[in-house]
Amino acid sequence: MNSRRIPHYGRMILTVGVALAGVLLVLIYREYRSVAEEIIQTPMAEHEALVRESYLWIGAGSLGALLMCLAIVWVLVQRQTNRIKDLRVQAEKLRDADFGEPLQEYPPDALGQLAAVFNDMRDRLKATTISRDYVDRILSGMNEAIIVTSTDGTIKRINRSTTILLGFDEKELVGTSIDYIVDKNKSGSLIDDSISGIPKEATFESKFGESIPVSYTCSIVEGEGGDSHDRIYAAQNITERRRAEQRIRYLARIDALTKVPNRMQFQHLLQRAIARARRAHQPLCLFYVDVDHFKEINDTFGHLAGDATLETVAERLSAALPDNSVIGRLAGDEFAVVVAGLGAEDEDRSETDRLARSLLDRLADPFFVQGHEVFMTASMGIAFYPKDAANVIDLIRNADAALYSSKKRGGNVYAYYKPQMNEAVVERLMTKSKLKRAFERDELLVHYQPKYNLETGEVFGAEALVRWELPDRGLILPSDFIPLAEETNLIIEIGEWVLDKVCEDFRYWQRSTSPGRVSVNFSLKQLRQPNFSARIGSILRSHEVSPTSLELEVTETTLMENPERTVKLLDQLYALGLHLAIDDFGTGYSSLSALQQFPISTLKIDKSFVRDVATNPDDATIVGTIVQMGRNLNLDVVAEGVENEDQLNVLQRLDCTYVQGLLFGDPMSADNYLELLLAQVEGTDSYRALFAG
Ligand code: C2E
Ligand code: MG
Ligand code: MG
Repeated sequence: MNSRRIPHYGRMILTVGVALAGVLLVLIYREYRSVAEEIIQTPMAEHEALVRESYLWIGAGSLGALLMCLAIVWVLVQRQTNRIKDLRVQAEKLRDADFGEPLQEYPPDALGQLAAVFNDMRDRLKATTISRDYVDRILSGMNEAIIVTSTDGTIKRINRSTTILLGFDEKELVGTSIDYIVDKNKSGSLIDDSISGIPKEATFESKFGESIPVSYTCSIVEGEGGDSHDRIYAAQNITERRRAEQRIRYLARIDALTKVPNRMQFQHLLQRAIARARRAHQPLCLFYVDVDHFKEINDTFGHLAGDATLETVAERLSAALPDNSVIGRLAGDEFAVVVAGLGAEDEDRSETDRLARSLLDRLADPFFVQGHEVFMTASMGIAFYPKDAANVIDLIRNADAALYSSKKRGGNVYAYYKPQMNEAVVERLMTKSKLKRAFERDELLVHYQPKYNLETGEVFGAEALVRWELPDRGLILPSDFIPLAEETNLIIEIGEWVLDKVCEDFRYWQRSTSPGRVSVNFSLKQLRQPNFSARIGSILRSHEVSPTSLELEVTETTLMENPERTVKLLDQLYALGLHLAIDDFGTGYSSLSALQQFPISTLKIDKSFVRDVATNPDDATIVGTIVQMGRNLNLDVVAEGVENEDQLNVLQRLDCTYVQGLLFGDPMSADNYLELLLAQVEGTDSYRALFAG
């Protein structure tokens, strides 16, 4: 190393000094000898002068040599003093963390060796300091809060992020226990925490008492001898993450629209309720609620109204239920409620009856959406734990089966689960998937039910009724698959297929005779199609069937869903020349005068009134009134579901115009209907005698 070499001039001075002193001594010695020789050879008289001269020379020479030596000693002492001074200065610098320049190690005397040791110390200290500063910079640059503790959990160091996180200065924390910063209400002690690279969670408490959730790892610092076991806790603030998680958890569990638990969460809550009930040997009651015709509310008033309806359902259920009940939205318009303590026993049953009825009544209160008054009803299925099922899945499934049976009864009712209901649900699911394939497999067919003129007994026309023939099941009636088809868009396809088939059959019959007026049933979903009348028109044209030969049957409830819109549509259809009939009249809530706005020509009295017309005077009065009102409005009145002659006779008396029903046999194929028409022309038909009375 250059800096450690002795400077050039130092060596020169020393060498020249020593050389000069040597030369001087040699000169003195030689002078002394020559003086001595001279004294010997010179006469005695001159001796004294010579001796004096010699003394002078010797004295001056010795003095010179002495001075020279003194100068050398002074230089040497000066140098050593400087070296010691340098050592002191350097030591002071080191004390102040200034490494300065290395010291001279030459000459390799004791001071030189000391300087070498000192330099070495300086080098090592410099290296350590640099790496310590580096570590400090790393620590303070880290976003994680780093806390170093001793084995017993005493904090030894923290970094800047810890101060930022907790508000404590290093001075305030060093010497305290790691548990001093732990929120003891929310976290356990960290002192004996296991060493783990896998992040764990804890809650710290800041200087200001704020709880801070953290994710941290704990690792160990091995000492050189392996005996130090300092720990490093590296912690990260996870408040934001916790918040996001809570939000996600909330979203995952709570239905965003109605703010009640969603299916998953409801099942979880039901699970817990069942566990509690089991421990307490208590029953539970599950209500499965479904809004009737929700799709229609949605389609008629728009999605906002649909959303408002669902919110209303949730609010009303919450308001009407006992405190200990749990509500959930299981899907679309399906809600479920679990009420603890209600069982299947008799006294509980009347309590359940009361609650079920009051819920349905509450739901049926009309409400306003964007100025429209919306009428909504709901249906309900009820199942009990433990009587009907012992677990979540079965309990929900069974309540759903009971709900389905309420729906089948027309809605706005509740039903208790019975084991045979489940078979219907399984069946329903199977049917739905098979129905999609019914078209490809050519499994649909149309049967015709003749309508008779009550006065003459003549066949006046027929009603087309769709059937589904499944190879392994035989004929399936519309009531078993039309509601399913209505849940999807399949009903539109089915409806058009039926109309197409009717037109085809109509042309076939027309070749032999006059088929009369054939009526075809249409569902609400078909009517809702934007281009409905155009589609009907194009099917009729493609078969060259006159619209006046056909009648379109729409149920009373369908008509009244959105009267303004339906009026316009029916006007269009009427303009095409189609006849329009109101089907199942009496099952809805509309007054006859409300129906007057529609361009209808036929009123079909629902078979539920006809069934008891001969035995129940009330029903006879109702049917009589409908017939009279219909006649006054210039409508043809058809009584459906005539099964026996008693009914036929009463209807004749009540002045009804047309009848149809099983009294005249099952609905029949197109070929059989043609045979019937032909027999009538020939006067050989078998039923005419029935009308004679
Ligand atoms: P609907 O229009 O009221 O049809 C009359 C229903 O009463 C038919 O049931 C018929 O078979 C049945 N019926 C006839 N006479 C009697 C009787 O004397 N006693 C009893 N108890 N029932 C009788 P079906 O064929 O099961 O049809 C049920 C409903 O399905 C129909 O009621 C109609 O609303 C609907 N439907 C039938 N075909 C179609 C269709 O092509 N499209 C649409 N959208 N709906 C259809
Ligand atoms: Mg009908
Ligand atoms: Mg009907």
